[in-house]
Amino acid sequence: MRKNSPNLRAIRMLADFHKRYFPLFFLQKLTASVSPFFNLWMSAEIVTALYDRIPEKEIWSLVVITLAGNLFLAVFGAALYRIMKHETSILENNEKLAFLNKTLSLDYDKLEDPSIRTLRRTIRENTYINANGMKRLRWAIESMIVSGINLVLSLIFFCDMLIHIFSGTPQPVSVLYLIGIIACLAGIIAYSQYAQNKQAQFLGGINDAMLDENRVCQALPGHNRDVRLYRQNIYSQKTMHHYSIATRNAFFRFHNFSAVLNIPTNMMFFVLRALIYLLTCMYCIADVIPVGSVIKYIGYMETFVENISQVFYSFQNIRANTPFIETYLSYFDLQNTMYQGSLSTEKRSDRQYQVEFRNVSFRYPGASEYAIRNLSLKFNVGSRLAVVGKNGSGKTTFIKLLCRLYDPTEGEILLNGIDIRKYDYRDYLSVFSVVFQDFRLFSFPLAQNVAAAEIYDSARVADCLTEAGFGERLASLPDGIETPLYKNFDENGVEISGGEAQKIALARALYKDSPFIILDEPTAALDPIAEAEIYSKFNDIVGDRTAIYISHRLSSCRFCDEIAVFDQGNVVQMGSHDVLVEEDGLYRELWYAQAQYYDKKD
Ligand code: ADP
Repeated sequence: MRKNSPNLRAIRMLADFHKRYFPLFFLQKLTASVSPFFNLWMSAEIVTALYDRIPEKEIWSLVVITLAGNLFLAVFGAALYRIMKHETSILENNEKLAFLNKTLSLDYDKLEDPSIRTLRRTIRENTYINANGMKRLRWAIESMIVSGINLVLSLIFFCDMLIHIFSGTPQPVSVLYLIGIIACLAGIIAYSQYAQNKQAQFLGGINDAMLDENRVCQALPGHNRDVRLYRQNIYSQKTMHHYSIATRNAFFRFHNFSAVLNIPTNMMFFVLRALIYLLTCMYCIADVIPVGSVIKYIGYMETFVENISQVFYSFQNIRANTPFIETYLSYFDLQNTMYQGSLSTEKRSDRQYQVEFRNVSFRYPGASEYAIRNLSLKFNVGSRLAVVGKNGSGKTTFIKLLCRLYDPTEGEILLNGIDIRKYDYRDYLSVFSVVFQDFRLFSFPLAQNVAAAEIYDSARVADCLTEAGFGERLASLPDGIETPLYKNFDENGVEISGGEAQKIALARALYKDSPFIILDEPTAALDPIAEAEIYSKFNDIVGDRTAIYISHRLSSCRFCDEIAVFDQGNVVQMGSHDVLVEEDGLYRELWYAQAQYYDKKD
């Protein structure tokens, strides 16, 4: 492996994920490998002792040593095996955590970038298929450690055999015999390299079949409801069946191919074994080596041959896995490019901030169309701004830009006259509380969801929940604010409806107590009574914060001081409801389109 090879870098990463893993693994495998060598050695000693008819007491001592050694190795080995189970899960956990931390530390635009999403998905899929990537590398390294230990041990005893055989007299075979053994060994090594290369090429070819099967099997059960309602189960089963047959056939061909390919290796192994049996037997008959040595020398030689091809197989495995490791590492190589300012936002007690969008245009990564076009907008904070418009007109994108989840492609956004890029990112984010349409709650206790922290002010959590309209439900919960949400981690967790979840998300935004509160369709999942309740006390809930409120329901925006009407990524109208409804424009059109449903009397 080259000095800066991706595999070496990945091995260093693995070692860093859990520092004591590999040393402990080495110790466990050393213990496991010593056992057969020890038994071969002791069996040879006992057979020779029996053959030489040495005093019985000495034979029994050899038996006791063998049993004691085995007991010690078994107990020590079992303890290490148990420890390694635990250590492996720590290593795998830490690896997952490192990947998650990388994802969480990425700039948001990278997180959402289609090419980076594809990269993440590819890494996940690689792991599902043949454990390609870090797991396969780890297994190959582990296999190499095991084979390495066995090779070193068998080599020591193999040299012991050569010394014994060739230093004694008489010499029943010529040196040509030894050359034959070495040639056979070299043949096995060279041919297994060739065969393993061919097998890897074949396996690479069936990766695509497995990828297709994996995608289908993952995707179809995910759409369970639709599959049932539209009776697509028959079609789904057929599709899955088709792909699993394709994979099965590909593997069948692979196993046939491997069986034929390995015939020469097996034949050479047979010849080698025969040569070693003959050699040891001839030297034993000639009285150069004791009778028991036949057992151990044949055993050591077999271990040596098996492990030497295993080492080459591991190298081959690592080489075939290299492209997957490169893909994995390319994720860790992604650099954040968002400019990180250092200014802190003014902590104004009057919460008076001014926000300005100046000629802002924005295109999503990988998209060809602009989602926001040349938008200029100024609003004084402390007021209530409603953002309305048709689907896809850019309302949510406007909020994402304001919260600096993305930077504008062109133009700038100013907070109190300063470009928001110049503010410290975390500090700037602390100015906003947002309830996105696709908000997420976690399977933690209710209070931790509201406070977004483990330590919280219980009274304030309860107040925020009550303000958000969750008071009645809170009173019915068995453990109040300590009640876990959902049943993922706790069987006593409560399942909540979409509307209740929205109220909790609103309470979380209130708890953060930021100068800005941004609500993207905050009442979409609420029933009409809960919705009316939220509107009637909206002013109280929002208090002295600036509220930006996105809604499709224009009637719910009437209480806002100003309404910005979005169309095709720009603000086409701005003003109060009373003014806009009189103006000839999109707002009036939208207003009357909705009002007709409310005004109709049955
Ligand atoms: P609204 O909130 O008004 O419904 P959005 O701001 O969500 O509209 O979307 C504005 C435009 O940007 C739409 O054309 C939408 O398809 C596109 N868009 C939204 N999110 C993404 C994204 N992550 N990647 C690419 N295009 C997007």
